[in-house]
Amino acid sequence: MPDWIVHIAVAYIICRILYFKYPVFNSANTVLAMLGALLPDIAKIGMVAQFYSIYLDDYLFSFHTPLASLVLAGLLSIFFKEKKLAFLFLGLGIFTHFALDLLLIRVGEGYYLLFPISWQTFHLDLIAPDDYNITLVVLLAALVLYSLGRLSQRRSEKS
Ligand SMILES: [Zn+2]
Repeated sequence: MPDWIVHIAVAYIICRILYFKYPVFNSANTVLAMLGALLPDIAKIGMVAQFYSIYLDDYLFSFHTPLASLVLAGLLSIFFKEKKLAFLFLGLGIFTHFALDLLLIRVGEGYYLLFPISWQTFHLDLIAPDDYNITLVVLLAALVLYSLGRLSQRRSEKS
């Protein structure tokens, strides 16, 4: 289930719902959360390298950990004017990424959430990785929220 589309859509859904109440969850910050939701999977560049017969999996696996992702978020947030806010929204995306990944039925050994402090792995074994019904439901929810947001924006512009 948690493919990149779901990671992005869930970050969007959370930010869009919160935007109805809190203006800080605006489009720009939502995009940051969506980017943060993809940040832990930067380790997937190893798949591209494999295409060229370069095997980086042993080096890149540590990027799919909360600590490495937060370090990357910190490095990225340096390039923003409001660094703390950028870091918080990237961090929100990272949090949603690992929350979704934890739901998966164990792929490999599970997720090293406490790396490098502990090698213990975590997984909740709730959803099959190839269950695309959830992807459809999440995309539908995102579309409904997007439409509701546009409607509410039009109403506020008219009044
Ligand atoms: Zn992941």
